[in-house]
Amino acid sequence: MKMLWLSLLTLMMQVQSPVTAFPLQSPHLTTQPHAGPTEADQELAEAYLRHFYAYQPRSERQKRTVEDPDVNADWRTGLCEKVKEMQLFHGLPPNGELTQETLAVMKRPRCGLSDVERFGDTIRWKKSSLSYRISGYNLSIPASKVHRVFRAAWKLWSNVARVKFRKRSRREADVVISFYRGEHKDGSPFDGRGGILAHAYLPGFGIGGDVHFDADEDWSFNTTGFNLLVVAVHEFGHALGLPHSPDPGAIMYPSYNFASNNELQLSFRDVKDVQHLYGVSPHFASIFTKNPPPRTPDKCDPDLSFDAVSELQQELLFFKDRFMWRKHPQFEETGITLISSLWPDTVPSYLDAVYENVEKNLIVFFKGQQFWMLRQLNLEEGFPRNISDLGFPSNITSVDAALHFRNERYTVFFVGQECWRYNERQKTMEASPALIEQQWPGIPTPLDAAVVHEGLVHFFKGNIVYKFDLNAKRVISTGHANDLLDCKETDNNEILTEGR
Ligand code: ZN
Ligand code: CA
Repeated sequence: MKMLWLSLLTLMMQVQSPVTAFPLQSPHLTTQPHAGPTEADQELAEAYLRHFYAYQPRSERQKRTVEDPDVNADWRTGLCEKVKEMQLFHGLPPNGELTQETLAVMKRPRCGLSDVERFGDTIRWKKSSLSYRISGYNLSIPASKVHRVFRAAWKLWSNVARVKFRKRSRREADVVISFYRGEHKDGSPFDGRGGILAHAYLPGFGIGGDVHFDADEDWSFNTTGFNLLVVAVHEFGHALGLPHSPDPGAIMYPSYNFASNNELQLSFRDVKDVQHLYGVSPHFASIFTKNPPPRTPDKCDPDLSFDAVSELQQELLFFKDRFMWRKHPQFEETGITLISSLWPDTVPSYLDAVYENVEKNLIVFFKGQQFWMLRQLNLEEGFPRNISDLGFPSNITSVDAALHFRNERYTVFFVGQECWRYNERQKTMEASPALIEQQWPGIPTPLDAAVVHEGLVHFFKGNIVYKFDLNAKRVISTGHANDLLDCKETDNNEILTEGR
């Protein structure tokens, strides 16, 4: 790590120190996880936080200043604060504990660069025409294909920013791209299959701007293994001077996530960031007028609607496209994360409905004719299955929303103007549906989502939530669909000044 860290460290000192905006949680409030992490997981977490979050255990002398016997050892060393920082970056509930899902995110394949370095505005190439060279190539995949992938990756950036790239075969180049195995003399050895996939150096002389791929990975041109184009676009972003983005829709998000059949595109965030460094490409308007870069949904957008809403233990989950927000009653921050970062390769995007079966500790996802049942992070055997297995007639090809009643142990499915009642104990569907307008007067159809929250049923349709009182059998109030996502005035102002 030394060289990379040294360069990053120098930068940090020149530019600004990493942002640590999280107040120290009172140690007395911390609780031990029920089943604590294994020793191996604890070691993995410490290594991860050292590498990606600049974690340095507090010295013995510093530790003595917090000699309260109630304080657990991880708070004394400062580990938990770093766990919180990592959790906030990745949209996890920031409890500072090495929960199962926190560890799962730590184990996801990712880029080797840190998440907390701020490069500042000034780390960029001072010229707009850059050269690159591919060296040390010894993979089994054809070189011509690899060259084509790199050309396509550079083009994604030059389509939006005022910067050009030219390949050189011999002479020195600004960006040298290599595939390396293990230790490769830059102080940041690769780690074999999985883990770190690649890393890159910020613009500068010598190793500056260079990009290294882990030659031990199963590189591919499709969805098997790791897609080389996806990783190349990300690393080239670093070679241009971009840091990691906490926006999970951005190419510059540090974790590898590629499961879509969609064409790879830079997100709105990536485009803004690179244009900030290099200016706007003269081709930008003509390429993107029709099809602008995709924006990650914004929880404070007054027009925000949801695909599905569900409880999950203490949390409320709001699903939208590839993303979800997690509202935890204990934490002010409602983080956004990719659905795939919690349930990789299992739960699809653009869901229809989701509900939690508390009694059986299951969460059930619906999309089209299929449904997926998971116990915590793992898919149950035999899933996905067809919704006809629940007792729906074959003419029903999707559901709009699902509402689970914990105490009564049944689930109501909303389909168009009708609702179907499913008995979770007997695993049977009532023979015929009822009309929504009769069962739930005042509720619009078709619905987007439904969830029971604080004793009221929350029905979602477009950007409106209808709160239904079960005893009075009527809607007692309405509000913005995103009211529960804690949009503060300041958040709104930020969006406005971001230059829509
Ligand atoms: Zn990266
Ligand atoms: Ca690796």
